[in-house]
Amino acid sequence: MIRVGLGRDLHRLVPGRRFLLGGIEVASDRGELGHSDGDVLTHAVIDAVLGAAGLGDIGEFFPPSDKAWKNADSLQLLKTAFSRVRQTGWELVNLDCTVICETPKILPYRDRIRVSLAGALGLDDSAVFVKGKTNEGLGPLGEGLAVEAFAVCLLETRPPGLGPAVL
Ligand SMILES: [Zn+2]
Repeated sequence: MIRVGLGRDLHRLVPGRRFLLGGIEVASDRGELGHSDGDVLTHAVIDAVLGAAGLGDIGEFFPPSDKAWKNADSLQLLKTAFSRVRQTGWELVNLDCTVICETPKILPYRDRIRVSLAGALGLDDSAVFVKGKTNEGLGPLGEGLAVEAFAVCLLETRPPGLGPAVL
């Protein structure tokens, strides 16, 4: 069996915060406002894998009201969420993402972001892709007030005979 998942997230961009994408810090005078570290791309990926497995969403797994997740490392949250996905018998085939922000350009960071996400998920780098888009100067994204990310993933059931996931 195969299943697709879609994740989407948006964070305000403010001075004095780090700008993290997939666990990689990009150079910017602004960063993501958020209860956790604000890593918008990783949050979209978490929602994609949880949604594909029908397990819930990031807000249920890591409630913003819970102090445990204040300034949390989002890559660790992804590892935690994805281990639950694997425990229910799913393997991740591939992940495709789009980040929308006016600046900075994503391309110089793209391959580091791919390696970072692939490492957190135990995937080959080739199974993770990340694209950067601007919003053509339009709206809050175009004015640099926010960053948005989308992630689509494909899950497949673990082939019989492989046994439980090694976590
Ligand atoms: Zn978020």
